[in-house]
Amino acid sequence: MGRIIDGKAVAARLREGLAARIAALPFRPGLRVVRVGEDPASGVYVRNKDRAAAAAGFDSATIQLPADCRESDLLMLVEDLNIDPAVDGILVQLPLPPQIRQDRVIAAIDPAKDVDGFHPVNAGRLATQQPGLVPCTPKGVMHLLREAGARLPGARAVVLGRSQIVGRPMAQLLLAADCTVTMAHSRTRDLPAECRRAEILVAAVGRPALVRGDWIGEGAIVIDVGINRGADGKLVGDVAFAEAAPRAAAITPVPGGVGPMTIACLLENTLEAALARRGLAGA
Ligand code: NAD
Repeated sequence: MGRIIDGKAVAARLREGLAARIAALPFRPGLRVVRVGEDPASGVYVRNKDRAAAAAGFDSATIQLPADCRESDLLMLVEDLNIDPAVDGILVQLPLPPQIRQDRVIAAIDPAKDVDGFHPVNAGRLATQQPGLVPCTPKGVMHLLREAGARLPGARAVVLGRSQIVGRPMAQLLLAADCTVTMAHSRTRDLPAECRRAEILVAAVGRPALVRGDWIGEGAIVIDVGINRGADGKLVGDVAFAEAAPRAAAITPVPGGVGPMTIACLLENTLEAALARRGLAGA
């Protein structure tokens, strides 16, 4: 039976470390979360973000706009936050309603305040190995891999899923850590065989229990990013946990694996943005 990687505990330690660093600063890093409409799923997430941010000493607030707000209203709000010196991090909660072009809004955020790391400038920096803000979920996965004692240089890593917010930046981070990276996706031939070769497998697909036990190579480290609602209403990952755990050296559960890391890394990004904007990077 593989070790279960406790994302909740790792995230709590990360947040405590951030709180200690913030307590030593002469200012409070500012985070603004913008929410359009009242999607109940993201409501829980936004409340958790607010609570975690306040507990770690951030100056954090959520700005709520109505579901029928115009794209121009949202762009004006983003511009106000861009120029507000008290704001270090801006996060616009996705998805946005259909009348608003997501790409336009992301591109309007000052890249120095883009704590989600979705702005094309930050994606470009990641792809060209320059310092920038890195998407929170893949950043959280890297923390968990280090926590699990993964030996990354030269390791065969397979990333399942190629989305802009998880799969692609995940592959970039693994490559930067000297892994040999394969990106697999919905058009990949013989997905089980690709996965079986992985010493590190990161699943970010959004299909409940797609990855079966016999897709897992003996001794692999398995990170399950998927958050899916099962038929019984419970949360399940992309990996069939009970089948995969006996074959894996270490595996993340759902919930309690990658999920808590995403919020902790959002806070880490906000602190990094605050320091970089003041010329204090590395403080
Ligand atoms: P997405 O829908 O944007 O991308 C899914 C990717 O999976 C696509 O690239 C697609 O090619 C691939 N795919 C789809 N079906 C496939 C199949 N049958 N076989 C192989 N590949 C397939 O999703 P996303 O935004 O990257 O999110 C993926 C999952 O991660 C979702 O369950 C989401 O809820 C979860 N997620 C979790 C966190 C977190 O904090 N833990 C954060 C973001 C996303």
